[in-house]
Order: sequence, then C-alpha cells, then structure tokens
Amino acid sequence: MFDVVTMRFNVAQLLRSPVGSERRYELADDITGIDDSITVLGPLTGKIRLLRTSDGILVTGRLHTVVSIPCRRCLEAFAQAAEVSLEEQFCPSIDIYTGVGIPPEDTEEAANRIDGHHLLDLTEVVRQNLLLALPMSPLCKPDCLGLCPVCGANLNIESCGCHPEMSDPRLESLHQLL
Ligand SMILES: [Zn+2]
Ligand SMILES: [Zn+2]
Repeated sequence: MFDVVTMRFNVAQLLRSPVGSERRYELADDITGIDDSITVLGPLTGKIRLLRTSDGILVTGRLHTVVSIPCRRCLEAFAQAAEVSLEEQFCPSIDIYTGVGIPPEDTEEAANRIDGHHLLDLTEVVRQNLLLALPMSPLCKPDCLGLCPVCGANLNIESCGCHPEMSDPRLESLHQLL
C-alpha cells in the first residue's frame, strides 16, 4: 500500500535515515497552471521513490498526465498523453542536525534544493521534464491535413477547393519539409 501524496514531501525523517533508506509513494496531484504554455487536462499520477544518498535525496519515478496542445499543422488543440521520467538528485540547504546553512554546489539547480523546512518540492523539475516530454512537432493525427494556405480553412473539416493540387500526398509531404 502506498500513501497517495502531492508533489511536496517533508523529508526531515528521511534525511536523518541511513544512506540507502527509501520511501515509496503513489503520487496524484493537480498540476493545473504548472506552465503557461500547457493546458492540463488530467492529474499527474504515478509512482515515486525517494532514496537517501550521501549527498541528499535521489528522486526517481515515472509519472503520467494528459495535456492539451496545439497541432502544428491545423493549430487545433488536442489531448496528448505525456510521460514524465524523473531521476533528480535533491540536496539539503541546511544541515539536518545542526540547522547550519549548506552553500549550493556550482552545478546545482535551484529547483533541486530542499528548503530550510526540509520540504522537497518536485513542481519545478516536473515542469521542466514535462516540457521535454512533449513532442516537438505535435500532430493531432498522423494524417492531419492542416490549414489551407490560401483561405485558412481547416482541411480536416472542410475542403475549400482553393488548391486542389495541394491534396496530392506527394506535394503534401514536400510541403511539410518547408
Ligand atoms: Zn492537426
Ligand atoms: Zn482554401
């Protein structure tokens, strides 16, 4: 059995545990508004593991959600499933025993800092990984016909008759290269 949790974890107890200790969680969180460029259609769900390492906590997991993104050909928004794979090292910003501040490593991302209250927040790393997980050239369907270059009609819905030769699949695939 897993506790169902959100993307913020209090890791004080895990930081006091020996290296190799772990916690496993079933995550389910509303990520509406996580990024201005994404419209979220469903919760973020999946399994997460927090592992105590010598430097901090390694978070691994595979998470799923559904977002709405615009098709690059017809510009219509469509639902796209996204899988976010996480493998992120988080480091404490204060010593768990003494409370003394720990300066960040040069290579350390601000998003990968555990805060002074021992809260580990996955929101920013999830946002970054979600953006990377989305297709660079999303298509609502593999054979999306796109928009008429003359009148702008959505050719999936109507045929406007402006350029009958554009419906030639060989020209269409040439067109996609441009
Ligand atoms: Zn489309
Ligand atoms: Zn047209």
